[in-house]
Amino acid sequence: MMNERSWQLADEAATLAFGARFARALGHNGLVIYLHGELGAGKTTFARALLGAMEVRERVKSPTYTLIEGYDAQGRPAWHLDLYRIADPGELEWLGLDALSDPAAVVLVEWPERGRGALPAADVTLHLAYAGDGRSARLEAHTPRGGELVAELR
Ligand code: ADP
Ligand code: MG
Repeated sequence: MMNERSWQLADEAATLAFGARFARALGHNGLVIYLHGELGAGKTTFARALLGAMEVRERVKSPTYTLIEGYDAQGRPAWHLDLYRIADPGELEWLGLDALSDPAAVVLVEWPERGRGALPAADVTLHLAYAGDGRSARLEAHTPRGGELVAELR
């Protein structure tokens, strides 16, 4: 099983292309993706690219204020969370995050450390970081289906 890979993303177009390749590697599988990286690292850009490539038809908004946005992605549920504004994972109880545990769902979480205990475990973690004018991406797998995704990515 391949557990970790890294890429250099020279510009926004490279992040968008990476999101599209990720969608192809994912196929119709569900996956829980934790997105790490400081503000502006490209977490939302990546989520938009991935959801767009999964044929989500609506505009993908940043869930900075709503905390969670739900989509239909080729017949399966997709969820995009941004927990930046959460101080305590207990604040998430009212959201009813049970739907995130559907194994068919694709779940993208920005600032997952702020929802510790309230979120399904990650299949993969994507670490995005500033690198010169661009960004670096490091993808780590934590489960067998995460490992398959990492190995499939081109
Ligand atoms: P985050 O959600 O991590 O706070 P955003 O995706 O909202 O970050 O913003 C990232 C910013 O960086 C956007 O202005 C986007 O155009 C830009 N960006 C995304 N990917 C790259 C890249 N590979 N190189 C340079 N700029 C990028
Ligand atoms: Mg964001």
